[in-house]
Amino acid sequence: MKMIPMKQDELIRLNSTISKPISGMTPPENLTVSEWADKKRRLSPESSAEPGPWRTTRTPYLRDIMDAFSDAKVRRIVFVSSSQSGKSEFENNVIGYIIDEDPGSILFIHPHTGDAKEYSKLRIAPMIRDCPSLRSKVADPKSRISENTILQKSYPGGLLSMCGSTEAHSLASKPIRYVIGDERDRWATSAGKEGDPWKLAMARQITFYNSKAIEVSTPTIKGASAIESSYLEGTMERWNVECPHCGNYHDIKFSDIRYEYVTEVIQQKKHYAVTKIWYICPGCGCISTEREIKKQPAKWVAENPNAYQRGVRSFWLNSFVSPWATWESTILEYLYAIGSAEKLQVVYNTRFGELWENRGDLEDEESVMARREEYPADAELPDGVIVLTAGVDTQDDRLEYEVVGHGRFGETWGIESGILIGRPDSDEVWNDLDNAVIDRVFRFEGGVGLKVSLTFVDEGGHFTHEVRQQCRDRILKKVFAVVGSNKFNAPYTSPPRTQKIVINKKMIGYCYRYDIGVSAGKQIIMDNLRVQTPGAKYCHFPKRDDYGHSFFSQLLSEHLTYDPKLKQPWVWKKIPGHERNERLDCRNYALAAFKALPVDLDAIARRLHEAREGKPSEGVATTPKAKTKGRGGGEAAFERFYDDW
Ligand SMILES: [Zn+2]
Repeated sequence: MKMIPMKQDELIRLNSTISKPISGMTPPENLTVSEWADKKRRLSPESSAEPGPWRTTRTPYLRDIMDAFSDAKVRRIVFVSSSQSGKSEFENNVIGYIIDEDPGSILFIHPHTGDAKEYSKLRIAPMIRDCPSLRSKVADPKSRISENTILQKSYPGGLLSMCGSTEAHSLASKPIRYVIGDERDRWATSAGKEGDPWKLAMARQITFYNSKAIEVSTPTIKGASAIESSYLEGTMERWNVECPHCGNYHDIKFSDIRYEYVTEVIQQKKHYAVTKIWYICPGCGCISTEREIKKQPAKWVAENPNAYQRGVRSFWLNSFVSPWATWESTILEYLYAIGSAEKLQVVYNTRFGELWENRGDLEDEESVMARREEYPADAELPDGVIVLTAGVDTQDDRLEYEVVGHGRFGETWGIESGILIGRPDSDEVWNDLDNAVIDRVFRFEGGVGLKVSLTFVDEGGHFTHEVRQQCRDRILKKVFAVVGSNKFNAPYTSPPRTQKIVINKKMIGYCYRYDIGVSAGKQIIMDNLRVQTPGAKYCHFPKRDDYGHSFFSQLLSEHLTYDPKLKQPWVWKKIPGHERNERLDCRNYALAAFKALPVDLDAIARRLHEAREGKPSEGVATTPKAKTKGRGGGEAAFERFYDDW
């Protein structure tokens, strides 16, 4: 059986990175922005932790972004970035380059006038002071002949004007060759009554055949992010790091970073210390350290390289590759933010460089994940579990499953969640499912075990009849095909019905299939996830990799929406950014299986108790666990309680 680690999402990563140099059209006598910066830029002590000469090698991911500016083919650059990755220095280098190498007027727009003033004082003025070539061109604002102010700097061939996004009058006047927008996502949606400030600024560039526009921002909220929309119009490049083990390139994501930490409560306040951090490659599953990852070769990989032909390059960067932001500091910030949506949004935007989403009254995935607990070290089942069911989701190239333990009063335990690679029309993947789930004995401490009492397998997708056939072959093991109904009022489960099995146009028999009201199931799952204390309806999850970030991201991937225009206005929809939801489906089928199971929990619990106290009842597996480590095979197992319908 092949197990692969679950991935947060599987972006189609095009290997066709835009190969360097794409600046072939730049006349050779001109410097690129990175060359200019390496030659002439000095970092100022006010704004940099590392004052002195600029070195592009320190932040290699900025090289392509800077040089896109000196590429004649590129008219627009979009840079989405976490904090502490050097995005302001990118803007500064471009401004220095313009003044020094390719002068023209610049409109540099910030969210508010105050931001523009602060930026000018803290970053622009010191840059001009510390770079001799700029100092000689930009007149000193203190000198009597100077026209320069905080918000305006003149130089031969142009004028740098800085303003806030609300100042319509500055946006709608003179023509401008270069427009730079800082913190785009924090701009006013309208400049006074004049409308979208970005459009106003772009309108001023029309007269220039060689105009350039730059948008830079930390991302904010999903569905309401201007920089996200702009990013989608460009080449959509992500900084991919080569895995030291398999050689594949991956975007470093928080969901692939694992950590351990200790908590100490001092004066009723929680304090955290991270004790161990490692990275798991989503391709090969091998482990690397932060040091190793930050030293590896890396490159921009474009998801939409064709946008280069339209002159738009867009880049998205998080803080995990920044030389200044340690992973430990990011993890700590995240730990301290758990429980507060506001603080988590800041961590998502400024550290993970990811969009935040508003979930209404749904539990957020971090809070649920933070509730994970240690299960007994050498057993698969925690106390409290009485019955096991499984849900299997069918995809074209794999089966995904979850085994769920059920206790009294709707309390549940996530027992195991996994992926089996293989097409659903091959026997091999079904044999893997037998070994991993259906025939396996899951054991309590002490060795008594349970088998899965009922398994529901989704027959939706491209292999409906193959799934039916495989389920029919396993009817004695209580494996059934199910079909989900999205009708809002459909009952969660209804009695099974006979269905034909037709393979290669040949009718080969019949099977039973259950209809599942998936909306009802989703509501139960979301309601139960809101329960905060162990007991009735509480959902337990183990502190393990198969219940990691991606599990919870998928489990909480949908929310109930209301659209009065629809005949049935209540609809469960995927939350943007949560394209995968297999974990939610698996959980839904496993819960439906429990619902369909006519069991007397008290009776089973009694017998289970006797078995564990050493008075074995018939049918309860009591093989000592030492002998049965690993996957259970054909041992006597806990009898199935499910009689034929
Ligand atoms: Zn790898």
